[in-house]
Amino acid sequence: MKEYGWSRNVRQVDPYVPGEQPSDPNIIKLNTNENPYPPAPGVQKFLSSVDVTDLRKYPDPASSELVDAIADYHDVDPSQVFVGVGSDDVLSMAFLAFFNGSDPVLFPDVTYSFYNVWADVYRVPYTEIPLSDDFTIDPSDYLRKNGGIIIANPNAPTGMPLPLSSIETIISGNRDSVVIVDEAYVDFGGESALSLLDKYDNLLVIRTFSKSRSLAGSRIGYAIGCVDMIRCLNDIKYSVNSYTMDRITLGIGTAAIRDEAYFRECVDRIIATRERTTEELKKLGFAVLPSATNFVFARHGYIPAMVLFEYLRDQGIYVRHFGGKRVYNYLRISIGTESDMDKLISVLTDYIERERA
Ligand SMILES: *Cc1c(COP(=O)(O)O)cnc(C)c1O
Repeated sequence: MKEYGWSRNVRQVDPYVPGEQPSDPNIIKLNTNENPYPPAPGVQKFLSSVDVTDLRKYPDPASSELVDAIADYHDVDPSQVFVGVGSDDVLSMAFLAFFNGSDPVLFPDVTYSFYNVWADVYRVPYTEIPLSDDFTIDPSDYLRKNGGIIIANPNAPTGMPLPLSSIETIISGNRDSVVIVDEAYVDFGGESALSLLDKYDNLLVIRTFSKSRSLAGSRIGYAIGCVDMIRCLNDIKYSVNSYTMDRITLGIGTAAIRDEAYFRECVDRIIATRERTTEELKKLGFAVLPSATNFVFARHGYIPAMVLFEYLRDQGIYVRHFGGKRVYNYLRISIGTESDMDKLISVLTDYIERERA
């Protein structure tokens, strides 16, 4: 950027780069871990009942209807629930609220690539702790002086889950730090840390409606923690923007979380497709990390990831490729419908067979 008179007062940041959203509906989008199935039928019903006249009024600043529905679903008190505009918003406010010390915040070197961005933008020091060679997290690496800890479980983009006992080791060994567990993908197979909430007042669990509830477009996330932690998050929210959740989104989220049967059915279907896709990829010569999410992280035996990425893109299939040194040869492939994955496998099969010929 050119130098302006005001340049010296700018908060310079190196932003997070979200996956592409192509406008062509024929593209098979396996690049942002969206759910391939529609949201619960109650969402459409709610939207059909919306009276636009109500939009002249501000929404409920406490988002009580949605907070109560989430509290009810998880069997916690509503005073333990905080909601925001996607879990990115909730995570960002949690960084602002809890990671305000001078010791470094800890998170893995290979994880959700937004964590270092928030640490930078809020100017908190951080240390990225290398995952083991097999991409697992060693909980003993997190028993050192720190200003807070954040772990995605299951981790992204590896898809690998950390056992609850390891999560507990990290929480119990850091009673003077807030430990955030980002459970964006936990519905697809991980073990939730929610069962530890009664035991630890330094745990904050963050979830999203974007993946397992098919609502990435609505932007709904939430945190569950002890009452005082939720109060800290609300203090931040009411100091930045009192009305983060709009009236329509509040109704959409409430309808979605009330439909347990539909939710289970979609999640089970995605898990079955993930397992089948993993087997097919292995037959094609991919090494696939064990996934507990709605995506797989895979590396081909001899074809560079970038070559496959470009080829798939030319064929109208978008997947995600990350630049980091350790993951450069991997593709992150979201689990779509059965037919999306059939198409992916057939396009890859054609390419690999031609390569072999
Ligand atoms: C997708 C994702 C999020 C953010 O989801 P929202 O759409 O903002 O709710 C947070 N953490 C991880 C690890 C994710 O993959």
